[in-house]
Amino acid sequence: MDEMVWVGSSRGVFEVKSYFSMVELPGPTFPWKAIWRTKAPLKVAFFSWTTALGSILTTDNLRRSQVVVNGCYMCKKTGESVNHLLIHCLVARDVFLVALGIPWVFSESMVDLLESWRGCTVESRVRDAWRATPLCIWWGLWRERNRRYFEGVESPIWAIKYSILSSLFFWVNGRDCMSVDCLLDFVDSLKL
Ligand SMILES: [Zn+2]
Repeated sequence: MDEMVWVGSSRGVFEVKSYFSMVELPGPTFPWKAIWRTKAPLKVAFFSWTTALGSILTTDNLRRSQVVVNGCYMCKKTGESVNHLLIHCLVARDVFLVALGIPWVFSESMVDLLESWRGCTVESRVRDAWRATPLCIWWGLWRERNRRYFEGVESPIWAIKYSILSSLFFWVNGRDCMSVDCLLDFVDSLKL
């Protein structure tokens, strides 16, 4: 008779301890605080965490499992990967530029970006917004990418930026930004 056997332990039965020994967790250099100690909602922190570990289902991950091959849904050019979609894509760069007002020297990976982001010294009055900014941008880009992928609906770039900045304002201030002027002031306050 067939029998289910847990390969993670010598006794062949499931044990939590053996499960954790099988899961590859990042080392102490992983920028945990840059993800978990922000004003971003828990689901966004979790998304950023799993994404930084390279495990979201962008097409490069799907390709490895031979599901689909496609270009980037945002810029429609190069193949989609986690780092392309959320850092190097023209759309991602454009959104980051709006938040910062200066061309950001982009890092190779999300982890690198989080580390350099956290290393920036910013005034205390904008610290919460600053820390949550990359997570908010990534969340907004990922949601837009999924709308395009699953629903065939495409928002213009200005609407993507507006939506991301509105979310950031809400996370930091706990209320909606009620006017365009209010949002513009907020963007101004974020600039380095
Ligand atoms: Zn792209």
